[in-house]
Amino acid sequence: MIYLDHNATTPVLPEVLEAMMPYLTTEWGNPSSAYKFGAKVKSVIETAREQVAALIGAHPLEIIFTSCATESNNAAIHATLKANPNKRHIVTSAVEHSSVLNYCMALEKEGYRVTYLPVDHDGLLKLADLENAIGDETSVVSLMWANNETGVLFPVKEIAEICRSRGVPYHCDAVQAAGKIEMDVRKLPVDYLSLTGHKFHAPKGIGALYVRRKTPFSPLIHGGHQERNLRGGTESVPLIVGIGKAAEAARRHSPDYEKKVRPLRDNLEEGMLSSIPNTELNGHKTQRLANTTNITFHGIESEALLILLDQEGICASSGSACLADSDEPSHVIKAMKPASAASRQMIRFSLGKANSAADIKATVTAVQRVTELLRA
Ligand code: PLP
Repeated sequence: MIYLDHNATTPVLPEVLEAMMPYLTTEWGNPSSAYKFGAKVKSVIETAREQVAALIGAHPLEIIFTSCATESNNAAIHATLKANPNKRHIVTSAVEHSSVLNYCMALEKEGYRVTYLPVDHDGLLKLADLENAIGDETSVVSLMWANNETGVLFPVKEIAEICRSRGVPYHCDAVQAAGKIEMDVRKLPVDYLSLTGHKFHAPKGIGALYVRRKTPFSPLIHGGHQERNLRGGTESVPLIVGIGKAAEAARRHSPDYEKKVRPLRDNLEEGMLSSIPNTELNGHKTQRLANTTNITFHGIESEALLILLDQEGICASSGSACLADSDEPSHVIKAMKPASAASRQMIRFSLGKANSAADIKATVTAVQRVTELLRA
């Protein structure tokens, strides 16, 4: 198998699994229990909190563990609405993940107003559009760091500064940036930032939300006193240990991530674009994650190409894994190229550090072969 779908999910690192094992076997106590067998696992949650905080330059008390980034995204937006019940306007973009878009659409049904900022042909925002969209009624701006389908990077620093200057909280879905680019909330005036472990080699089912100190937060999930009353529910100690260890590893590996992945991605991209006719890159050429390439193969339906690639042992996708079971065209590519069929005829390849030059060579050859077959 050649796995080129790291934006969908990543394998659990052996060191992450090893760190989790005691909490899946012998150390299974409840961290809220008063006796030592339970209470002693509380400290490992705090270690993980420090590790996740360190990945983004936060203070550990600014990290809330959640079940996934979908929950983190919902919780952040929800917190801003609770903090300012009279402000019923949300600014986001047309290319966000469904965990932001579908929540915003649900809020519209409850009477909230949502501005979905457009993107250009390259997937970039116009900051003037953001400036114009923010008004007195705006409760939050929610704009992602890196797009999961194209890898296009939004200018988060400029966005954060605009929001700060207008007194509007900024929530950033940083799921795809984690472990791929340096993130430091001390240099970025973001108020809320979402992460999920499974995109950086922790298991699925564990996420985190950064909430800047003194920023309002009210829980989305009400329950016990866990997470300092900010998120009810017995903590999944093994998963929390896993995301902590994975964050530590991501921090350690991040200096050479780009060096390893970018040349492979570039070879894959150039290999396909130069040898296969009627292909087109989706997304800005440089303002993009080092691991992602999204290519339209004109005249070939994504689904057909993916099935044949799967038969060749190659895992890629036609957009977000969360929407893979729907036959909707990619909303991201549609927002970038509304007049073209590109949104139905594209494939995302997203690389990881374990990919090799041999994987890339085999993939280019396989894509050449199957596109010829489908166009014959
Ligand atoms: N945001 C982005 C940009 C994503 O790519 C994903 C996952 O695909 C999510 C949010 C949702 O993450 P989770 O699967 O942890 O809910």
